[in-house]
Amino acid sequence: MRKQKRVVRIGSVEIGGELPVAVQSMTKTKTADIANTVKQIHRLERAGCELIRCAVVNRDDVAALKKIKKSVTIPLIADIHFDYRLALGAINAGVDKIRINPGNIGERWKIEEIIRSAKGNDIPIRVGVNSGSLPKKVLSRYAHPTVGAIVDSVESAISVFEDNNFTQLVISAKGVDVRETVEVYQMLHKQFSFPLHIGITEAGLPLMGAVKSAVGLGIILHGGIGDTLRVSLTADPVQEVVVAYVILGALGIRTRGPILISCPMCGRCEVDMEHIARVVDKRLKKYSQFIKVAVMGCVVNGPGEAREADFGIACGKGVGAVFARGKEIKRVKENKLVEALFEVIDENTDNR
Ligand code: SF4
Repeated sequence: MRKQKRVVRIGSVEIGGELPVAVQSMTKTKTADIANTVKQIHRLERAGCELIRCAVVNRDDVAALKKIKKSVTIPLIADIHFDYRLALGAINAGVDKIRINPGNIGERWKIEEIIRSAKGNDIPIRVGVNSGSLPKKVLSRYAHPTVGAIVDSVESAISVFEDNNFTQLVISAKGVDVRETVEVYQMLHKQFSFPLHIGITEAGLPLMGAVKSAVGLGIILHGGIGDTLRVSLTADPVQEVVVAYVILGALGIRTRGPILISCPMCGRCEVDMEHIARVVDKRLKKYSQFIKVAVMGCVVNGPGEAREADFGIACGKGVGAVFARGKEIKRVKENKLVEALFEVIDENTDNR
């Protein structure tokens, strides 16, 4: 069951409570490269990204934030490490939230300066703890950065915010691997009422990263945990957003756009299924409405699966059947199947 968290507002987006899990990504451009950063954010917005984070590593990045903020509509988050002055600069530039890792910001007074400034500008802060940068005093109690050490680090970081009556907090904490990260989030969920940003930090190239994220985030989300999420991939950030929605859709938490169901193929298949599925998948990307489309390779499971979907095709030898809302609509030659499928989709939806 989804346990309710406090509601935190990040610009125009609220998270926590019973609100939907918000999809986040991070730009991969140099933030000071305003034109390309804005371009990337616009592409991410179109893909369904709802919160965007930019790395702020120097004063040029801070200076760019104001212009970036004016050019985008989704809330802008500044990601800061090490230098508290960059956080203060980002807040003054008008960002909607900042993310800091207290473990590398240093002395308490620096964190308190950031808290004061965020309070004055009415923006939230995400405390993002990483197993690789735990405070020395916590590490001295544990031999390794264990799950307990990570959760202790979060507790100690949060105490500074609580002492300063700052409640607009979001928490994240990541371990070294998927299992550890899952355990950390399960503990954080029990212990804190602040919304949780979830992600699997050890990403990877798209296939590996998507699988690891699906495993880790799948377990976390299925436990009712998580208020914002980012899928981290060594790839175009648009792919992060696509994978995030696939994970949320597979769990029935959120959907965006069509879902393609395609059979895995076997010796009964008489058509080039992979090609057909790829063509259908590509064409479906232009559609925004949530519909289930099935592309099946033969008459064994094909008609059944195609009927269960909103629309579908079941292929035979040189010929195939087109289905809509559970009924067979027509039979057409193999080379006309995809066209016939999209005609039926267009006739029955107000997509695009
Ligand atoms: S739908 Fe037919 S071709 Fe596709 S995997 Fe199932 S049995 Fe094989």
